[in-house]
Amino acid sequence: MKKINLVYILLVATIFSCKESSNVVKSEKKIATIDSVTVKKHLYTLASDDMEGRKTGTPGIEKAAKYIENEFKRIGLTTYDTLENYRQTFTFTDRSSNKELTTSNIIGVLEGKSKKNEIVVVSAHYDHLGIKKKEGQLDSIYNGANDDASGVTGVLALAEYFKTKGTNERTILFVAFTGEELGLIGSTHFGKGIDATKFVAGINLEMIGKTPSFGPNTAWLTGFERSDFGKIIQKNLVGSGYQLFPDPYKKFNLFFRSDNASLARLGVPSHTFSTTPIDVDKDYHQASDEVETLNITVITQTIQAVAKGTESIINGKDTPTRVVLKEGK
Ligand SMILES: [Zn+2]
Repeated sequence: MKKINLVYILLVATIFSCKESSNVVKSEKKIATIDSVTVKKHLYTLASDDMEGRKTGTPGIEKAAKYIENEFKRIGLTTYDTLENYRQTFTFTDRSSNKELTTSNIIGVLEGKSKKNEIVVVSAHYDHLGIKKKEGQLDSIYNGANDDASGVTGVLALAEYFKTKGTNERTILFVAFTGEELGLIGSTHFGKGIDATKFVAGINLEMIGKTPSFGPNTAWLTGFERSDFGKIIQKNLVGSGYQLFPDPYKKFNLFFRSDNASLARLGVPSHTFSTTPIDVDKDYHQASDEVETLNITVITQTIQAVAKGTESIINGKDTPTRVVLKEGK
C-alpha cells in the first residue's frame, strides 16, 4: 500500500501545482478532537482504587504522577524551564501532620509558535485525600473522581488537542499540581519561581463532572468580575450552544480555594472553571466521590467548551486584563 500511495502522490505532484499536491498530504494529518473515549480512560485510571485516593506523599499519588508523565510523553510535550523531566520536585512541611513531604508538580510544555515568551497555564490538581478509615464506613478510599481527577482529565485531553492542532502562538504549560488539598502547596511553590509578567492567563479546572444548576451545557467561572477573561470566553462560545456563567456561590470564596489563586495573587488573570453544584453536592470530600456519580458527557462537553472558549487567548489574539486584588480579597 505504501508504494501505491507514494506513486499516487508523485503523480498528483507532477500533474497539479505544488499547492495542490501539498493539500493531498495535508488531508492525511490527524484531526484534533476531544472525545468521550479518551476522557473515560483518563478519568477511570486516575480515580481507580489502585491510586488509593492520591494523597500527597503516598505511593498512590506516585502512580498518578507516573500516569500523567507517560501521557505527557506520549502526547509529545517538552519539559519546563531548566527541569530535566516533567517533575518539579520539592520538599515542604505538612501543617496538619507536621511531617516533611517530598512531592512533585507535573509540568509539560507546548512551545508557542510566534509568542514563546507569553505563557498560558492549563491546570488541575492531581492530589486528593487518600485513605481514611472511619468506623462503620465500608469504603475507605477517597477516590476524588470529581475532585479533581475530572480536572486532570481535562488537562490531558487539552494537551493532546492543542498539540495535534498545532496552532498555539503562545506557549502552553500543562500542569498537574500537587498538595492542593493541603493548602494550595504545589501551585504556591510553582508561583514562587516564575516571572508573572510572562504569564498571560491561567485556566484551572476543578470538579467538572456534574451537571450544573444552570442546566446542561453550562459551566461557571470563579472570580468572573476580577478580569475580562470570562467575557473573552463568553464571546468565543457564542453560537456553540455552551454557556459560561459567573460563579454563583460567592459565599464559598471559591476564587481563593483552588490553584488559580496562587497565580492570581501575582496578578495573572487566572480563574477556575467548574460545573458542580457545590452547595448541594453530597460527594464533595467524601469517599462517595466516585466515577459512577459523574457524567462523562458533561466532562467531555466542558473540555470541548474550554478549548473553544480559550482558543483566542492560546492563539495570541486576545489578552485578558490583569487581576487586581485589594488587600488579598
Ligand atoms: Zn479540588
